[in-house]
Amino acid sequence: NGLICVLHDITEQEKIDAERREFVANVSHELRTPLTTMRSYLEALADGAWRDEELAPNFLEVTRTETERMIRLVNDLLTLSKMDSTDYQMKVEWVNFIKFFHRIIDRFEMTKEQNVTFQRNLPDQAMFVEIDEDKLTQVLYNIISNALKYSPEGGQVTFSVEERGKWMVVSVSDQGMGIPKKSIGKIFDRFYRVDKARTRKMGGTGLGLAIAKEIVDAHGGNIWAESEEGKGTTISFSLPYERAEEDEWS
Ligand code: ADP
Repeated sequence: NGLICVLHDITEQEKIDAERREFVANVSHELRTPLTTMRSYLEALADGAWRDEELAPNFLEVTRTETERMIRLVNDLLTLSKMDSTDYQMKVEWVNFIKFFHRIIDRFEMTKEQNVTFQRNLPDQAMFVEIDEDKLTQVLYNIISNALKYSPEGGQVTFSVEERGKWMVVSVSDQGMGIPKKSIGKIFDRFYRVDKARTRKMGGTGLGLAIAKEIVDAHGGNIWAESEEGKGTTISFSLPYERAEEDEWS
């Protein structure tokens, strides 16, 4: 029995080591891509393109975009590594999720550039949950950014919140191209993208949903996706919820 335990530990450890190696390989690759792009553009500029009034601003713009991608990536990596650390602590508070969610949707509504309409199916009454507001803001930010990114011109993004037994379920639906069945289980993995080339062009890091999952897990909830190709995608997550007594919060 002792031997089996040792073997079990070894395979667990091997699995963790393999995952870590894969993660480092992915990070290196993700950083190398923008760096090599920037190097070639900078070399061209140094070799004389800087004198070309048309090429120079264009090449500088590319290096700026690539720099921004690297900053996003490094920020996402820092978020993940903070959450992975053993002394990670969340700052939880009781928050009226409905008010909080409206505020976040408002912010997207004010800044969105696409022609996309928003539909809010949120209850009128307050729903209090114990959450780390900054972390949940990031979850919603990542999910809503994707919904907008993949929405077609004139599409609709629907936000909903409902009570399901001891859970509050939050969903964001879009009418985008959807996610193939074989990929649906993987989109919460670090660095997974359905279409690498396309999403890289759209500025994604492949970490947004992995971060969202870490945060929702840390709150004791679940996150999942439902999607139909060509029709749209719904990303939902649940948080532990207990309805307050009538006058508890008044
Ligand atoms: P990224 O930064 O690439 O968007 P995410 O972790 O946020 O990374 O998402 C992982 C992948 O899941 C995306 O690259 C995309 O292929 C797919 N995906 C996520 N949300 C949607 C959506 N609303 N519609 C279609 N595909 C999506």
